[in-house]
Amino acid sequence: MSKALSNRINSLPVSQTLAMAAKARELKKQGKDIISLSLGEPDFNTPDFIKDAAIEAINQNYNSYTPVDGYLELKEAICTKFKRDNNLVYKPNQIVVSTGAKQSIANIAQVLLNPGDEVLLPAPYWVSYSAIATLCEAKFIEIPSSIDADFKITPEQLEAAITPKTKMVFFNSPNNPSGSIYSEKEYKALAKVLGNHPQIFILSDEIYEHINYGDKPFSFAAIESMYDRTITVNGLAKAFAMTGWRIGYIGAPDWIAKACTKMQGQITSGANCIAQRAAITAVSATPDKVQYMVDEFKSRRDIVLNLLGKIDGFKLNIPEGAFYVFPDISAFFGKTIRNKEIKNANDFSMLLLEEANVATVTGEAFGAPKCIRMSYAASELQLREAVKRIKEVLS
Ligand code: GLU
Repeated sequence: MSKALSNRINSLPVSQTLAMAAKARELKKQGKDIISLSLGEPDFNTPDFIKDAAIEAINQNYNSYTPVDGYLELKEAICTKFKRDNNLVYKPNQIVVSTGAKQSIANIAQVLLNPGDEVLLPAPYWVSYSAIATLCEAKFIEIPSSIDADFKITPEQLEAAITPKTKMVFFNSPNNPSGSIYSEKEYKALAKVLGNHPQIFILSDEIYEHINYGDKPFSFAAIESMYDRTITVNGLAKAFAMTGWRIGYIGAPDWIAKACTKMQGQITSGANCIAQRAAITAVSATPDKVQYMVDEFKSRRDIVLNLLGKIDGFKLNIPEGAFYVFPDISAFFGKTIRNKEIKNANDFSMLLLEEANVATVTGEAFGAPKCIRMSYAASELQLREAVKRIKEVLS
């Protein structure tokens, strides 16, 4: 029967982050002692003050359909947050709340991309960007970077990748999977290039905004000349440990927001009512309310970098945000370890799963075939044990 499936779904790869997480879960169920560093998901509980808001919403009988683009109170709270944290002025009619930032991104792609349009993806990039572009029959063009360039692209590379067909570019800072952050200066240099190409729209995915260990990340739309063609994406999942609540949102030119609302109105309607009520409380909270999680992530990052740095063949940079390390492990390519030939990052990631019982995600899924992604959103104990096992397998 699978032959009856559409070309659309057949052309779509499975999400490698979710696939690896499912595999790790399955192996755990079979009794294997798997440490999963695959999924990017905070291992904290959602803060009590947010849970309380959700409980109150249930008790107040919030059970009806919501406005497709989100409750007005939530959109107002998001506008306040954009001003407070990002120096961005949006009005409620420029905000659309969705079922996770993933849906926000899919909406934007669906409303802006035509078949044959080109989407520039500075690599490494989050696995679903390319798939979402593919679903729109658009062509994604990778702009490669390397660990030596701190996984960032240059203005020259951006210029060289642009063609008359280029419709969008996706930026993501702090970046999943590399943890790199573009400075204001770096973003302004990229904006200068885009200034000469007014047909290009910019999607700025800022979902890891609050999880940073140095300078506060800069919002691309804060560059005045870019505001009218930038869509700022954010959500609650990462900063507030609310992955399963599924609330994402955009700030965008009003005509784009309106189109996203129309798209969403035919597919899912408004996001979950209880999660939206809780989201009002979450986005209204100042970032210091969740700083304890960021501090913990930083301490784990340092531990993991220190331990992995002692393994020959792991080339590391220092991620400035998010909760991943993205080592270049190409030094192992061509070697045979435990009777397994390591030809690429997929083989290496499978080696770690099968021989060390540690789940990671291959860099190939992120357009960076020399690397693997390891999430350090796990306990210190698990992280230490995972690196110990990896070291044993490789020695
Ligand atoms: N964004 C997270 C990750 O990269 C969650 C899984 C997903 O949606 O890809 O692991």
